[in-house]
Amino acid sequence: MSFDDISTSNPVLDNKLVYGQKAFDGHEQISFFSDKDTGLKAIIGIHSTVLGPALGGVRMWDYNNEWEALNDVLRLSRGMTYKSAITGLSLGGGKAVIIGDATKHKTPALIRKFAEKVNKLGGIYITTEDVGTNPADMDIIRKTTPYVTGISEGKGGSGNPAPISAFGVFMGMKAAAMFKFGSDVLEDKRIFVQGIGQVGEALIENLMNEGAKVTIADINEERLQAVSKKYQVEIYRGKDLYTEDMDIYAPCALGATINKVTIPKLKAKIIAGSANNQLEDEIENGRLLKKNGILYAPDFLINAGGLINVYGELENNDRSEIMRKTEDIYNTTLKILKRAEKEQVSTNIAAMDFANERIESKRKELLK
Ligand code: NAD
Repeated sequence: MSFDDISTSNPVLDNKLVYGQKAFDGHEQISFFSDKDTGLKAIIGIHSTVLGPALGGVRMWDYNNEWEALNDVLRLSRGMTYKSAITGLSLGGGKAVIIGDATKHKTPALIRKFAEKVNKLGGIYITTEDVGTNPADMDIIRKTTPYVTGISEGKGGSGNPAPISAFGVFMGMKAAAMFKFGSDVLEDKRIFVQGIGQVGEALIENLMNEGAKVTIADINEERLQAVSKKYQVEIYRGKDLYTEDMDIYAPCALGATINKVTIPKLKAKIIAGSANNQLEDEIENGRLLKKNGILYAPDFLINAGGLINVYGELENNDRSEIMRKTEDIYNTTLKILKRAEKEQVSTNIAAMDFANERIESKRKELLK
């Protein structure tokens, strides 16, 4: 199974507009909303509510066309189902997209209108921030509907999820090290962190506390200088990071950096990072990584700390409970890696199977 979809030249003629799309995966509900006055055009995709209400962020993005927006909401909502399931949360999977450039078209009135639409769904979908939206937008939404999480800390919200996400990635990385090297101590391990934004930086802090040998890469020179100075880490100045000697590659910038071009070059023994959708092709790339003996800690499992954080806000969990659940990513990762080895499948497939089993068992229970 893949989180990606193929593009098609004419989805209408190809009969692939909605149910025929590769990204369509038995989604329970897809709702289209619009509002003349504010210019709102939004799609809310509910992939599954089997394990609980469908939680997922609202992304505001200037899509090239409506089909692209629909494809994104289908793909992302499905991903949320698996992320929640594997993390053991009582949540389903959903996602919303608002079509438009957030820097130009986002207004409080538009966000309020979106909140009305979320409210109309009666709680089967719970929204939170994503690309193009932020905690201040969630505060606006909260005034209209209770079906929102990730509001700002000053208003009683759970605050910036990045440090929690980073801690989860750190736990997943340690579990992968335990599996691969027989020890989860990262001291002296050569680790390349690609992307030193909010999560990348917080990950570096964890790694430096453990005595790892960290090298950083980013396209933002200012960030490179600041983070290198703060943590005394080396900046990568080479041309092709994938060819470098390293123990662990931590992709914390963009997705799809692991693909048929980069995998044959990779010398890393472990891949563990925060970026979403790291594999360009779930099946093929997962298979090739396994063949090449590179251990991949599935992204949607180890980067779930942010989700645990906003779930904690809904459940009124205190910080220690949120940290405990995030720490548990270590045990789940180890379980998945062992299962993949036993069943001779790639680690991402083992992770998907694990998530699917949890959903199926709940589905059967609900049918009784
Ligand atoms: P961010 O925007 O704060 O940081 C991203 C960093 O990547 C920036 O410093 C940017 O300059 C750098 N970057 C962009 N393109 C690059 C490239 N080609 N090469 C090297 N560096 C590049 O984002 P973030 O919140 O730290 O999230 C990082 C990744 O983790 C994203 O893929 C995000 O979807 C994912 N993620 C984040 C969270 C969270 O809690 N923030 C949770 C789960 C997953």
